[in-house]
Amino acid sequence: MTETGASRRPLVVLDGVDKHFGALHVLKHVDLSVGEGEVVVVIGPSGSGKSTLCRTINRLETIDAGTITLDGRPLPSEGKEPGPAARRRRHGVPVVQPVRAQDRARQRDARADPGARHLEGRRRGARPRACSNGSASTSRRASTPRRLSGGQQQRVAIARALAMDPKVMLFDEPTSALDPEMINEVLDTMTSLARSGMTMVVVTHEMGFARRAADRVVFMADGEIVEQAEPETFFTAPRSDRAKDFLSKIL
Ligand code: ADP
Ligand code: MG
Repeated sequence: MTETGASRRPLVVLDGVDKHFGALHVLKHVDLSVGEGEVVVVIGPSGSGKSTLCRTINRLETIDAGTITLDGRPLPSEGKEPGPAARRRRHGVPVVQPVRAQDRARQRDARADPGARHLEGRRRGARPRACSNGSASTSRRASTPRRLSGGQQQRVAIARALAMDPKVMLFDEPTSALDPEMINEVLDTMTSLARSGMTMVVVTHEMGFARRAADRVVFMADGEIVEQAEPETFFTAPRSDRAKDFLSKIL
């Protein structure tokens, strides 16, 4: 198995991680080592456990067996910490998730009726001439994330995560809820981040991003890491039938 992360200092290490949801075995003895500065793209069919993998790394989910270490320190086991939010803060492993559906509906409305934003501003007490040059940028600065486009919201989410000065960042299909024209701006931000040396685990169906930015592609199916390789190798010569089948459907 190609281990392109082997030469780097291991930053996130999953060793024999098992996770069940009731009778469902969602992660089956997962071993994964992410090196410092490495960009690992995780792909695989829906339901294969990709989100669960992310959620175990940032401690939104507990694990049933195995260990996860972050920069050499084991993540604490369940019960020793006050709550998921505190654990997440303490471990500083942010996860960027899709823009929520309702925000997406709102941005559609705003695009369909460009005046809506302005009107909304007036309704909230903005002065009638609020759309002259200078104040346009002021209102933009003051706007809350929900009034930004989905792409802008994701870039804000990434900036906020970066402000935590994380050792690693997780992305769980960050562009999946975005309209096509916004996907690239988010992927460009992520590509820059990758090039800046950030350690990243990215679940995505954006194979262009994987080819461009990934050091390693990890292919998951049915709760297992089926194969992993450098992107070029994986995309041109997948070895497993599951990966071949998956790629034939999405490429
Ligand atoms: P992916 O992100 O690859 O689509 P997930 O990690 O979201 O996969 O889900 C893996 C499997 O675990 C799916 O069968 C899903 O239905 C199930 N699952 C995920 N979260 C839960 C949960 N909180 N409770 C029960 N089942 C879950
Ligand atoms: Mg998922």
